[in-house]
Amino acid sequence: MSITPLMPVYPRCGVRPVEGDHCHLIDEDGTRYLDFASGIAVNLLGHSHPGLIEAIKAQAEKLMHVSNLYGSPQGEVLAQRLVDLTFADTVFFTNSGAEAVECAIKAARAYHQANGNPHRHELITFTNAFHGRTMATISASNQAKMHKGFMPLLPGFKYCEFDDLAAAEALIGPETAGFLVEPIQGEGGIRPASQEFMTGLRALADKHDLMLVLDEVQCGVARTGKMYAHEHYGIDPDILASAKGIGGGFPFGACLATEKGARGMTFGTHGSTYGGNPLAMAAGMAVLDAVGNDEFLAEVTEKGERIRGRLEQFIGNYPDLFELVRGKGLMLGIKMKVESRPFFVHLRENHDLLTVAAGDNTLRVLPPLVIGDAEIDEFFDKLSAGAASYTIPEAA
Ligand SMILES: *Cc1c(COP(=O)(O)O)cnc(C)c1O
Repeated sequence: MSITPLMPVYPRCGVRPVEGDHCHLIDEDGTRYLDFASGIAVNLLGHSHPGLIEAIKAQAEKLMHVSNLYGSPQGEVLAQRLVDLTFADTVFFTNSGAEAVECAIKAARAYHQANGNPHRHELITFTNAFHGRTMATISASNQAKMHKGFMPLLPGFKYCEFDDLAAAEALIGPETAGFLVEPIQGEGGIRPASQEFMTGLRALADKHDLMLVLDEVQCGVARTGKMYAHEHYGIDPDILASAKGIGGGFPFGACLATEKGARGMTFGTHGSTYGGNPLAMAAGMAVLDAVGNDEFLAEVTEKGERIRGRLEQFIGNYPDLFELVRGKGLMLGIKMKVESRPFFVHLRENHDLLTVAAGDNTLRVLPPLVIGDAEIDEFFDKLSAGAASYTIPEAA
């Protein structure tokens, strides 16, 4: 037998964390890493937030799980809270981002079904998008590396160049159900959509009675200094997928919708065994208690601007390595002029700094939203040392 007990789908690195301490991760061998990856935009309260830990502990002692066949006092409170904080009128709870996107895709199709237009099933999606790893969500992405070995894909997706409004309009046809888009691409390289693109998609959706479905699994939940990133653009979606940060580390997601966007989601059309169980609701409530207020969001914006300003200065010292800084709030990307992955490995292995590699040779900077001055200074110390000690590897 040569296969490992953990199915070998991840090229796992040598960091083997066993403990978290606020914004640091501590390895088996005692190494302390500064965590500016946050479990890929998940641990927005860091690793040892007392409010989140207490909420999970207290709920675990009381009641962890019951079926969705029963009433959910916990879910009602959290759903109301999300409705109050966002564009949404209604919420479906899931356990992951991909499931939240699945629900969003089903809701978009069901809307047209409910209106007597079952042929309108197709979503226009965008190049270099990432929507998850289920069959529907890989089918929604044009990235061939995620398709390989898993054909045939699900029909019903048309790929369009990201941020190209005219191309999106040209793809609208009698079978179009809507658009599915990340307002700020995460995996694709921290690429914010332009204002014209987002406003334009909203206008096209209104004109043609299409669903505007946003995937805010990575950019949502205070990460950019707004509860959800679409607020930066002054537009509302019909349906939105949320996850990652929303549980602060507890596996938890949500599909948010307006009353119109959820028109087809009636009794018996959708479900989940675990989705919205009391333990997840307790985690979600603790996260919203911490981040769902203007003061916290303003701090994220301020810290994001400060880091961004310093990053822009810093990259000027290394014009051969770095091209530009982009993103919003504490969802930042440094686009490199060389391959970003070896530099990200170098920071991790030689400077105990965790970031995330992304598409378009971008280094993702996704710190916990609760970082303070000390962590920001430590980040720049490690990043500067990392850039100074870096030699660009020879092309293979
Ligand atoms: C991570 C991510 C997903 C998938 O979330 P999972 O919890 O891994 O299923 C979907 N969309 C975006 C934008 C993501 O970043």
